Amino acid sequence: MQDVAARLQETRTSIARAARDFGRKPDSVTLIAVSKTKPAEMIVPVLEAGQIDFGENYVQEAKAKWPALRERFPQARLHMIGPLQSNKAREAVALFDAIHSLDRESLARELAREIERAGRAPQLIVQVNTGAEPQKGGVLPQEADAFLALCRSRYGLTIAGLMCIPPAEEPPSPHFALLAKIAARNGLGILSMGMSADYEAAIQLGATHVRVGSAIFGARG
Ligand SMILES: *Cc1c(COP(=O)(O)O)cnc(C)c1O
Repeated sequence: MQDVAARLQETRTSIARAARDFGRKPDSVTLIAVSKTKPAEMIVPVLEAGQIDFGENYVQEAKAKWPALRERFPQARLHMIGPLQSNKAREAVALFDAIHSLDRESLARELAREIERAGRAPQLIVQVNTGAEPQKGGVLPQEADAFLALCRSRYGLTIAGLMCIPPAEEPPSPHFALLAKIAARNGLGILSMGMSADYEAAIQLGATHVRVGSAIFGARG
């Protein structure tokens, strides 16, 4: 448990260093600690060390772990970073403060409906499949502008930014640069990009949110 808090501190230090190296303010980068598959006992020391933002990939898992954690740590902010089924939109709107995986019209429609119904609006981030990988979620880069316009005009959604997961076997920087370019031309402020292996490159290219799992919690079993 000690290890987890120590690795959190190391990660924070290296995020701050990367930000300064690239002429950015350290507080312009938010660390999302990705706690998917990790039990509550492992998350508690990270919360105790002052970490606010956490990422989860599965609605059911988040629903099982977080209500109790939030009673003890009400300042925690929860980010949905995994693929989201439209039929989980209601639970996702109730549970998460931000959803990073909006990537299709059916989901936009369900989220709009549930936000209206619940009177609660998580921050919405559109995932872009920058590598056009068939197995990955996200709108294609060439369809991103139209999808953003559709979310706004047809569903009245406020989109805060963009997210990507570059292909594992490629250098990530061109993907980060592409995401930054699409965000800039659409006036979007949030760039959710960079994971344990590549968050420094993401910070160089403008990441506002880095999603770091294994560097903090250790490898996933
Ligand atoms: C698991 C996951 C992460 C964290 O990955 P690490 O390599 O463990 O840092 C980040 N983003 C998404 C979307 C993930 O699914």
